[in-house]
Amino acid sequence: MRYRVLRPPYCYRWAVLIAVLAGTVSLIVSLCQPGAEGSPIRPSPPPAVAAGPTAADPAPDLLRHTANTGKYVALTFDDGPDPAFTPRILDVLAKNNAVATFCMIGTRVRAHPELVRSVLAHGMRLCDHTVNHDEDLARRTPQRITAEIEGCWSDLQVAADADVAVGYFRAPGGAWSQPMREAAARAGMKPLAWSVDPRDWATPGTQQIAAAVRQNVQPGSVILFHDGGGDRAQTVEALGILLPWLAGQGYRFDFPG
Ligand SMILES: [Zn+2]
Repeated sequence: MRYRVLRPPYCYRWAVLIAVLAGTVSLIVSLCQPGAEGSPIRPSPPPAVAAGPTAADPAPDLLRHTANTGKYVALTFDDGPDPAFTPRILDVLAKNNAVATFCMIGTRVRAHPELVRSVLAHGMRLCDHTVNHDEDLARRTPQRITAEIEGCWSDLQVAADADVAVGYFRAPGGAWSQPMREAAARAGMKPLAWSVDPRDWATPGTQQIAAAVRQNVQPGSVILFHDGGGDRAQTVEALGILLPWLAGQGYRFDFPG
């Protein structure tokens, strides 16, 4: 018989090779079959809509982009509210039909709750910037991190005197850590970074602030400004230059997303 010509080791190798090929083909076929419900090896499809933080995604990526794609820009203001400068910034924004996101500090919120209500009444959004603005928060215990983040969220609710959406959290000084992003996600807030920093906090001069934005802005930019933490007159003046310029360039104002 012909089979006797093949020595047993070759028979064995061919049998193994054929078995492996057959197994691979049947696996591929079962994976590709659309109607194979109930198959234990069929991978489940990804969810069509991200439903907030999950066990598999406890710390989403930092936001550095506008919610809409296209020629949009998101203005963000940190370290307020401030009784001298927040109202002036709201005026400039209103005159230019601009929206912005305000990253507020809990202690400032408690001192000026009426400014939180004013920011909301102007159609702006709130961002949690912790209770005490500890720029070393990333080195603190998870309990302290959670208390700083959830404490500011509560301060904003009390000041607003309503259930108010706080969609974002921004780390003090932009010093992020994984536990901070996880704590923000548990509280339903997206971690908000920025893509353009004109360094207005260093008061470099109105023209320098305006020039830094003009040179660096692009569609989707999230720009960092400050309405608190010091004398923000240069920021107010720079906005008076920049907002008409941005509109003239075809930019529309958006929230981060
Ligand atoms: Zn800050």
